[in-house]
Amino acid sequence: MLYDCLPCRVDVNSSLRRLSEDEQGHRPVSEASFDDIRGVLGDVPVYRVEQVRHAVYRTPTTTFDKIQTLPATMRVLLGRQFSYEALETVRSEMSQDGTQKTLFRASDGAVVETVQMLTERSDSTTICLSSQSGCGMGCRFCATGDIGLTRNLTAGEIVDQFLYFRRRSKASRVPDRAVFMGMGEPLANLSALEPAVRALVDPSRVGLGARRVTISTVGLPKGIDALVDWNLPVGLAISLHAPVDDLRATLVPIAKRFPLDELMAVSSRFQRRVRRRVTYEYTMLDGVNDSVGQAVDLAVLLRGQRCHVNLIPFNPYPGSLYRTTPRLRLRAFRDALHAQGVRATIRRTRGRDISGACGQLHAGVLASPRAPGAMGKPKTNSLDTRNDISGKARSGKI
Ligand code: SAH
Ligand code: SF4
Repeated sequence: MLYDCLPCRVDVNSSLRRLSEDEQGHRPVSEASFDDIRGVLGDVPVYRVEQVRHAVYRTPTTTFDKIQTLPATMRVLLGRQFSYEALETVRSEMSQDGTQKTLFRASDGAVVETVQMLTERSDSTTICLSSQSGCGMGCRFCATGDIGLTRNLTAGEIVDQFLYFRRRSKASRVPDRAVFMGMGEPLANLSALEPAVRALVDPSRVGLGARRVTISTVGLPKGIDALVDWNLPVGLAISLHAPVDDLRATLVPIAKRFPLDELMAVSSRFQRRVRRRVTYEYTMLDGVNDSVGQAVDLAVLLRGQRCHVNLIPFNPYPGSLYRTTPRLRLRAFRDALHAQGVRATIRRTRGRDISGACGQLHAGVLASPRAPGAMGKPKTNSLDTRNDISGKARSGKI
């Protein structure tokens, strides 16, 4: 018998024969458990699996055949069973402010965008992850909502967005934070979100602390309750956009199902049980939700909570229906919140010149821009018919 690695006693030929054709090379290695990897390598010592994991999660290596610490046979075995990167890179764009947006394509053609943001002050690098290709929630001011949902991403496709940037980062700027603020509604994809977040925070895999992972949600109460049960101190950001139900429901169709009092109750549970402050995101739309009176209503809604309000200047995109609140009014809104005792900041816009800012991700699906700042009736989305979740969300039925 021929052993490629004598101490590990891996028999090249019999191991290769165990793999059926359709099993080969498809499952992302970032989805494989310790035992999955060991199962592929055969009866190898634990340190061999650790070497694989180290290479995958902690080094710039991008293919199995470059894992120098492993014998050639093991590299071949792994390559037959797993893909190293779940997503193919289509293109990357770099903003003037250093933000990088990358467009990926999955093996079935689903497209997804991910954004890397540098924070000068703290030397921190944040990856803005997508949880779905497109989104079915149909928020009226969001490019991703405009394109509708193609499908949920798998856990491997989520983790691999982070690893893509980590593997290609300079040693001085290794990504150290992840926010689920890219394409999609993370809490509508809990079955992939949970294993992905566990891989991100696991010290033997990606190894970010849970406090460095933030999940942003349109506000799905059951999903927030599920987060509480994870028992991980991840950050939670709830997209609010309006202090009253009527206005919120016109901007965020799913809000028809989940009134603000239910959302505030589940948010308070999160604050109590996870012992973390909640961030409320509030996209500032000129003349729609940005008056001082609305700031006071917002402060009343949030009274008594351990929270922070993040005001997001609206980012335009092709066909968008709203305008950005002028700077002076943004500040007046923030100051009104402060005067009511609510902590609030204005989010610094990043990557707008490459359509990489909040709500601008559409993976090239939307066509050329309308007249800048054009307002009009919300348009129907031609992709909605492909996507029953999107349709249900808009009609408030999920
Ligand atoms: N689906 C999740 C996370 C992705 S969106 C959510 O809705 O929270 C991330 C943030 O960008 C949300 O707060 C969202 O409301 C905001 N956003 C969406 N479109 C925007 C736009 N055009 N301009 C500014 N912020 C936008
Ligand atoms: Fe989806 Fe979030 Fe955009 Fe709403 S704001 S459409 S939930 S990605």
